[in-house]
Amino acid sequence: MTEQNISNVDLSVVIPVYNEEKTLRKLIERLIPALDKLGKNYEVIFTNDGSRDDSWPILKSIQQQFPNRITLVDFNANYGQHMAIMAGFDQVRGSVVITMDADLQNPPEEIYKLIEKIDEGYDVVGGYRANRHENDHFVRRYCSKIMNYIRSKITNISMIDQGCMLRAYKRPIVDLITQTVETSTFIPALAFKLAGKPTEVEVKHEQRVEGQSNYSVYELIRVTLDLFTGFSLFPLHVFSIGGLFISFLSFVLCFYLMVRRLVIGPEADGMFTLFAILFFFIGVCITGIGIVGEYVGRTYQAISGRPRYIVREISHRS
Ligand code: UDP
Ligand code: MG
Repeated sequence: MTEQNISNVDLSVVIPVYNEEKTLRKLIERLIPALDKLGKNYEVIFTNDGSRDDSWPILKSIQQQFPNRITLVDFNANYGQHMAIMAGFDQVRGSVVITMDADLQNPPEEIYKLIEKIDEGYDVVGGYRANRHENDHFVRRYCSKIMNYIRSKITNISMIDQGCMLRAYKRPIVDLITQTVETSTFIPALAFKLAGKPTEVEVKHEQRVEGQSNYSVYELIRVTLDLFTGFSLFPLHVFSIGGLFISFLSFVLCFYLMVRRLVIGPEADGMFTLFAILFFFIGVCITGIGIVGEYVGRTYQAISGRPRYIVREISHRS
């Protein structure tokens, strides 16, 4: 192990951890050699995002093993992957910052590819998963394809793979990210917006060996909504313009029905059509209220000024 003076840190690796007791040791066994190979001064920051398993004691023992390499942040509750990364960003000392998952889906041996791109002069380097095909469930693969497409259209952020968390950022970008106040954000998209010269590079992607994905369908929908409302007002515009258009059409329809009523007399046959139309409008209204609610919620969170997360303990490397 390289036990050199690491006051000048080149590289900080930030890893969010939520119930990863089974993978942490395997991760560190691969991560440390992969980082040593780079010949840079590095540090690794783990944020324990309110794990309910033994992740925290395991992290502590890993830190004892590599005291001058590892910094630990412990949340008092679960604040989500992106807040965990944010807390890691608050601690980084390196001039380049890497994020990756703790579940070994992002192979540590691929980090060098990101560094190469940073050395070429890019300030944000996203990984996109190469062999995702074989490893992820097809429903998830297609959902994320569709979401990627809609997101790129709506937010003007074009990323091949928004879900891959193996990414590299130059320090000034990370400093800008930590200055934001949003409580629900999506760090890759935020970084892309702040980047001067972003790029992407293909990285390997492995199947989760232990445990299962921490994301339920609900959380995936949440993240997607965060992406849409956090980076664009387009959904609001679509809704208001669409709403106006629909109102106009329904006005014309009502007028037409009124004329028919006067000319032909009462017609019971059209009742179900009316029901259908009514249900349609109710659906539109509810969606609209939901979208407006998303923005109100975000505004509320931002102005309430509450801390984004609460740190119980920070254990700095020596
Ligand atoms: N994670 C976290 N907090 C959460 C959920 C996940 O810190 O509330 C971490 C998790 O430990 C992992 C990474 O975020 O390191 C990605 O999570 P996961 O593998 O469950 O997501 P997926 O790969 O299925 O998108
Ligand atoms: Mg994963």
